[in-house]
Amino acid sequence: MTTSLFFLMWGLATALAMPLLLQFHASGVPGVRAFMLANALTVLSLLLYAAGSFLPLNATVMVSNAAWISALALVYVGVRQFFGLHPQVWRSAALAILCVVVMTAMLYGQDRVAARIVLFSVITCVGMGATACVIFDGRRQIRTRGVALYLLLSILGLAALHLLRVLVYGLGWEAPGSMLHPTPWALFFIVGGSVTVPALFLALLLLVQTRMSERMQEALTFDSLTQAYSRRSFMDELQHELRRCERNDGRLVVLLLDIDFFKAINDRHGHATGDQALRHFARVVQRAVRASDRFGRLGGEEFALLMYDCEPASALVQAQRVCDALRDAPLHTVDGEIRMTVSGGLAAYRRGDTADGILARADVALYRAKELGRDRVETGGSVGFGAAATWDWTAQGGAEAANAAVAASPAGSKATTA
Ligand code: GH3
Ligand code: MG
Ligand code: MG
Repeated sequence: MTTSLFFLMWGLATALAMPLLLQFHASGVPGVRAFMLANALTVLSLLLYAAGSFLPLNATVMVSNAAWISALALVYVGVRQFFGLHPQVWRSAALAILCVVVMTAMLYGQDRVAARIVLFSVITCVGMGATACVIFDGRRQIRTRGVALYLLLSILGLAALHLLRVLVYGLGWEAPGSMLHPTPWALFFIVGGSVTVPALFLALLLLVQTRMSERMQEALTFDSLTQAYSRRSFMDELQHELRRCERNDGRLVVLLLDIDFFKAINDRHGHATGDQALRHFARVVQRAVRASDRFGRLGGEEFALLMYDCEPASALVQAQRVCDALRDAPLHTVDGEIRMTVSGGLAAYRRGDTADGILARADVALYRAKELGRDRVETGGSVGFGAAATWDWTAQGGAEAANAAVAASPAGSKATTA
């Protein structure tokens, strides 16, 4: 009776993962369905043992073992799916069926309980070992620290428990006793299992939950269409950088970019091609600028680039490079080539600047670029660049250097500093 109670508690502790796994089922995280099934089969396997005294012994053992072996295979398949590998469903199913057939043959043949226990634990060790290898190889996909380690520890803990079981019964340290009157080792394995098996499913839950929150974090950080940084993360970074500049008297330039006549692309070629053009634009800009600078989509066809620690001259040269790169890289569609240009407004950090302040100056410069004919970059002289309180654009020889660089550039788009 006491042993039955142990199995009942063990089964219930394992079942605790089920409501959350059910809830995560809709998340679309690969592997969740396999984990759910594995959990249900494990609970079934344990509850069968809990009710063992009321059921025919051999049938109980057979069905319970088959359920556990299938659960092992499903955990392996689910973990492979989670890490984007081929799930190996058929191979795992074939191996599981083979194991069940051998176990059943042993049970109904000349039953040697110790041999059956050893085989059962070897199967568990192999299943857990294979799963641990998949997790170890894919551990870098899990960015949240500690999750892969916890998962590996719970899996290896379960494998270690079964390895010990192989030693105890394989080497004959103890003869297997009856379920109703468990020996000290048998009791140890029941208690050990009631800790490690629920821990395994909790670890799998944590794995799924981590993937979901990493996806959510990614959705907040990046724009889903262009993969540029989202407005929110761009603004957070801008505010963070402004505080850093304030402390260290640092340098920072913001470039606002607005695609020219973008509405006409939508009108002429349709919204889907417009989206394609936005993706193309983001790719071209990211290729043209320093990898360390932060490029974000503020909304619609308006983007911004945060240039860290940037000399005034090179900020303007970089902005020009963006215009030139876009002009030189038309978008190829099934309807033919679509030529695109962009206008830009630059503003440099001033002491005491706020995010709204610096963006407003860049916006004024952008507006002027549009007014002056588009496909050009304007810098807000009196409203940013060259203001006495900030970097002295002219004093640093920035304008000449920038103009010289722009004049030397083959495309040579227009650039002015006020
Ligand atoms: P300008 O040179 O003055 O900037 O002209 P414009 O046509 O680019 O500017 P306007 O603000 O009139 O048009 C912007 C257009 O961008 C209007 C809107 O439908 C389109 N747009 C905004 N977001 C998206 C998007 O996600 N996908 C697509 N395809 N179009 C978008
Ligand atoms: Mg526009
Ligand atoms: Mg616009």
